Amino acid sequence: MTANQWQIGKIKITRVIEIEAFGGMRRILPDADYEAVKAIPWLFPHFADADGRLGASIHTLIVETPDCRIVVDTCVGNDKDRLVPAWNQLQTNFLSDFQATGYALDSIDRVLCTHLHVDHVGWNTRLQDGRWVPTFANARYLMGADEVAFWQAGSDDERFGPIYADSIKPIFDAGLVDLVSADHQVAPGVRMIATPGHTPGHVSVLLESAGETAFITGDMLHHPCQFARPHWCASVDHDKPQAIRTRTDIFERFADSPTLIIGTHFATPTVGHLVRDGDVYRLDV
Ligand SMILES: [Zn+2]
Repeated sequence: MTANQWQIGKIKITRVIEIEAFGGMRRILPDADYEAVKAIPWLFPHFADADGRLGASIHTLIVETPDCRIVVDTCVGNDKDRLVPAWNQLQTNFLSDFQATGYALDSIDRVLCTHLHVDHVGWNTRLQDGRWVPTFANARYLMGADEVAFWQAGSDDERFGPIYADSIKPIFDAGLVDLVSADHQVAPGVRMIATPGHTPGHVSVLLESAGETAFITGDMLHHPCQFARPHWCASVDHDKPQAIRTRTDIFERFADSPTLIIGTHFATPTVGHLVRDGDVYRLDV
């Protein structure tokens, strides 16, 4: 097991990093300025650097159960026209890093997008001979029916580029999409949980095996600082009051419990246990 693998009972989770860096999070979390971050000492050194810049990661999680191999979220992807300069025509070694973990692309059974934002659907497809083709050709792609309906209702994200056209529509065209409810049982021990607010159909993922549990956040929060400041919203949270309610409910549910919290954008070490800290919460890593 490497530093980027965790075991929950009989379920193995492997993290494949596309991008990890300090800085660049103020655009996402405008409340998190230097003074405000400095007031949360437990964020240092893992989740904030000496200059108060927040660390963040874009990664995929491969969840392997005894029956099923599931990819949770698929990052930004290569070769895509994006309006965020750092993500436009991105070229990384993600696919070779993915396969270096020992998982062949065609061995993946399910792809689960917690929501359909730009940095969660990119590797749904890859460019082959000038066409966007499914990266995981033997997988069913699970998408929340409410989430898909939201984006299909003309809400295509013009802030980021032609995401639907290059990363969602080709999966529909290939007949690989299963529209599912927000509490869908993906496999024994793997269940989606509705965590709306960031987007209308946003889901998180609960893992349970042999008496152990873990929770994959998705973007219901972007950074561990929000455990200490649940009212800090991401600029891209669609319904901010609902996003705050979801954070408060989920934090209360898992605080002081043995559930391992796995952050979808948390920098290394990425996981920890949630503990009460006065009126708010802290991540113990
Ligand atoms: Zn998002």
